Amino acid sequence: MVVIFGLAVGSFLNVIILRFDELKTIWKVRSHCLKCKKEIRWYDLIPFLSYFVLGAKCRYCKKPISYQYPIVEGLTALLFACIYYHYGLTWQALLLAIIASILVVISIYDMLHYEVPDILSYLGILFALGFVFVKLYSASSLNWESIIPYGYAILAAGGFLGFLVIISKEKWMGAGDILLGILMGILLGMPNVLTALFVAFISGSLIGLILIAGRKKTIKDAVPFGPFLVLGTLVALFWGEKLINYYFGIF
Ligand SMILES: [Zn+2]
Repeated sequence: MVVIFGLAVGSFLNVIILRFDELKTIWKVRSHCLKCKKEIRWYDLIPFLSYFVLGAKCRYCKKPISYQYPIVEGLTALLFACIYYHYGLTWQALLLAIIASILVVISIYDMLHYEVPDILSYLGILFALGFVFVKLYSASSLNWESIIPYGYAILAAGGFLGFLVIISKEKWMGAGDILLGILMGILLGMPNVLTALFVAFISGSLIGLILIAGRKKTIKDAVPFGPFLVLGTLVALFWGEKLINYYFGIF
């Protein structure tokens, strides 16, 4: 049920990514083929499955459908399953599902447009604050002392990314990534936010090198970093403690 719900939400996120700049029309316009403008029938709107049933082509004009659709839907379903596995059906899980959805939109939007809309980061920060509040409250440890690690985490992630933005004059990293760093700090706290940054930089460098080696990019090209920050955040969120224990277990 959680996976099916995730697929449905992912399908909606695709619409948000696509029509972000004309959000007001989402409720009015029925889903239609971008190429031939023909309205898509309900039986062709089944998240994830329809893409494969239709052979990645529009039923009417046979023009290709972007693989972004099944990827976003499948990814959202996978994330919802992970959240359910780790948090069950709780308020924390609900808040995380919202945050994960926002992070999916941020990643794909960043890949498509090389920028992260601030409004998405602010929304994420708002829900991350809610998540931490509920988390501390339900563990009856809502006090100044338990908030401090989150303060350090915000300073560490926001400060570090901000430092890279300044010394690279926004070439390696955009100002929008600082907001994303603040979101990460609030969501993960210390020391987990460091795991997230570590995973983000390792995966970002690896993919960057692979793209350069495959001559898809040169060293001067920009690779959007938002998706890697999001990847690091999710890995740290679900497996952060395990990774830290494993890491220190090596020594
Ligand atoms: Zn069409």
